[in-house]
Amino acid sequence: MKKHNFYAGPSIIPDEVKEVTAKGILDLNGIGLSVMEVSHRSKEFSAIIEETALLIRELMAVPASHSVVFTHGGASLNFCMVPYNMLQKKAAYLDTGSWSSKAIKEARLFGEVEVVASSKDKNYTYIPRDFTIPADADYFHITTNNTIFGTEIREDIDSPVPLIADASSDILSRPVDVSRYGMIYAGAQKNVGPAGVAVAIIKNDILGKVDRPIPTMLDYRTYIDKASLFNTPACVSLYGCLNMLKWLKNLGGVEAIYKKNLEKAGILYEEIDRNKLFKSTIPDEKDRSIMNVTFVMTDEYKEKEAAFLEYAASKGMVGVKGHRSVGGFRASIYNAMPIESVKALIHTMKEFEATL
Ligand SMILES: *Cc1c(COP(=O)(O)O)cnc(C)c1O
Repeated sequence: MKKHNFYAGPSIIPDEVKEVTAKGILDLNGIGLSVMEVSHRSKEFSAIIEETALLIRELMAVPASHSVVFTHGGASLNFCMVPYNMLQKKAAYLDTGSWSSKAIKEARLFGEVEVVASSKDKNYTYIPRDFTIPADADYFHITTNNTIFGTEIREDIDSPVPLIADASSDILSRPVDVSRYGMIYAGAQKNVGPAGVAVAIIKNDILGKVDRPIPTMLDYRTYIDKASLFNTPACVSLYGCLNMLKWLKNLGGVEAIYKKNLEKAGILYEEIDRNKLFKSTIPDEKDRSIMNVTFVMTDEYKEKEAAFLEYAASKGMVGVKGHRSVGGFRASIYNAMPIESVKALIHTMKEFEATL
């Protein structure tokens, strides 16, 4: 049976990206060696990492003021690298979910943290809009897409201090004006490629302003100075990212995928709003994520939750169970998710409704 992969991360990778990557694992571009067994200093691998960074630059129109690097330790290591490198006295954070809270916890190890607003009061079902960013903060940190709770900040916020965004689950999904950010970072495993790499886009002039010594591997300047090759990177993952970025470019880039993403999210939310069994967990439409669509059963049908999950699984739907802190369901519909799979899920929801 065809599987429709709605996992939140690691998540769906296009078939052609898997095929090219699998070929390279056996024999990279016909050189008779696997991408797993070439030196990261070889010309073959240098070409891979350089092209991967260039494609990110091109797809996101990264200005010359910013560097593109690949770090280790996922998005989560960046939670401590950001304050290590940039928090001198005080940082401002917007608390919109579990990932924001984790970033805040790390920042507190390095200095004062002002949480300018939080949507915790309503289990993170909205994006706070009424807040002031302190002008004396070293930076302002946001999570653009809240993977677990299904909310998203889809505009580039005005900030008087460098804006730093964890964009792990919506990077490359919609156009973003990179020049307005001090830094954007993301774990690769949602929209960039396989797990094992994190992407960081950093405005060069926001670094070098803290007094503390920074260990080499946690200092963003090491990654910039050594073009992400200070030590051995996750070579196979990076090769997967390269193939995924080429796939996205061939498709027409970020503008083109954004149109598709809006269409996919649009039809799914429409069905959730229409179907008597389901309701969105996010009341305000402008806060709804176009990457992670969270929904629950209406009170009247609450006891049918397990039955729906079982029914969906029998139709090939994978990974639609909601995160434990929200319950219900979550359909992650990242860039690589074809609209056919979203339509298959909608069809399953309609069919299940008809059985009741
Ligand atoms: C998945 C995710 C993370 C964690 O990423 P890791 O690479 O596993 O550390 C952080 N932030 C957001 C918004 C995420 O979706």
